[in-house]
Amino acid sequence: MRIVDIRERAVPLNSTLSNSSFDFSEMTTSVVAVITDCVRDGQPVVGYAFNSTGRYACGAQMRDRFIPRILRADPASLLDATGENLDPQKIVACMMQREKAGGHSERSIAIGTIEVALWDAVAKVERKPLHRVLAERFNGGKKIADRVFCYVGGGWYFPGQTIKDLQDEMRRHLDAGYTMVKMKVGGLPLSEDLRRLEAVLQVVGSGDHLAVDANCKFDRENAFAYAKALAPFKLRWFEEPCDPLDYGLMAELAQMYDSPLATGENLFSTQDVKNLVRFGGLRGDRDVIQVDPPQAYGIAQYARTLSQLDAMGWQRSGLFPHGGNQMSLHIAAGFGLGGAESYPGVFGDFGGFADDARLTEGKLNLPERPGIGFEGQAKLYRIMRELVA
Ligand code: MG
Repeated sequence: MRIVDIRERAVPLNSTLSNSSFDFSEMTTSVVAVITDCVRDGQPVVGYAFNSTGRYACGAQMRDRFIPRILRADPASLLDATGENLDPQKIVACMMQREKAGGHSERSIAIGTIEVALWDAVAKVERKPLHRVLAERFNGGKKIADRVFCYVGGGWYFPGQTIKDLQDEMRRHLDAGYTMVKMKVGGLPLSEDLRRLEAVLQVVGSGDHLAVDANCKFDRENAFAYAKALAPFKLRWFEEPCDPLDYGLMAELAQMYDSPLATGENLFSTQDVKNLVRFGGLRGDRDVIQVDPPQAYGIAQYARTLSQLDAMGWQRSGLFPHGGNQMSLHIAAGFGLGGAESYPGVFGDFGGFADDARLTEGKLNLPERPGIGFEGQAKLYRIMRELVA
């Protein structure tokens, strides 16, 4: 078995939304196809992935360094011990040749996206859904639940939006079967954000059904002001109050804000997550870490991050992979994490799950298609297929 080719294309997300810090008008993502010569059901196995949402396409690094390194390698050196399937960890080691330590995000998204596409291929070769392969390899083969908790990352800012629009949006999420929603904060003055928050609470009922996300907006003074104002609502969590690397300020907030804090989607290495827990004052009994595996060297590296967190006494129920897509759903299920997020109708063809996914009482049924199962997302799969046409 060998990798025949790896192809990438940048695709615009076409979103008009904004969070507290930036709008998505220029946002793109890299779609990747790893084409193999292994045949299943009469077709060559192709592994697909995209680099999640919120970071721009990264095809330049892939084409200049990572894809040529893989295609130049001896194909046998990229296989697992059986010789009949790819070994993503060996292929990451191949991509990491001649790479200097540190500077993770310059390459972690490109490498991680290719790595997740490799896992799609690995699971297709095994004729299993990826969540099952991950549970077997990384979670002691534990029988995983048939359904995974999933909440909505919503409550965005958009031009002309009224409080009623926001409440209608939240009602739609509840009607669709979700039991927890997240909304943006920090895009308006505190008093207006609180009006939005109280309006959403009227719809969802209580703070444990609602999280807020500040997208790293606040300096120290504003972070404290929001933490004080949010505390009485006892929200499910307060996400990314400050710069993702300001562990000192996170530690101060953890001292004065009792309800859960959340962060991690803008960390790209195991070392950064370790430092976050060690110096950011995070509390293993309640706080939430949200690494985005395709943006942080991929799934095998995520498994290493999890063993570090396990060793530091962190609960898996406090881990929610960022992304709101089929990749993070498999990862949440396979590793037995707290749950996944969802962005219904937000990121065009890249948000959401299989077209036949069913959501009941806030939980999503797991897909049974081989691999990640992008084949079950008609609009997204049409984009992916173009890479191999
Ligand atoms: Mg966020």
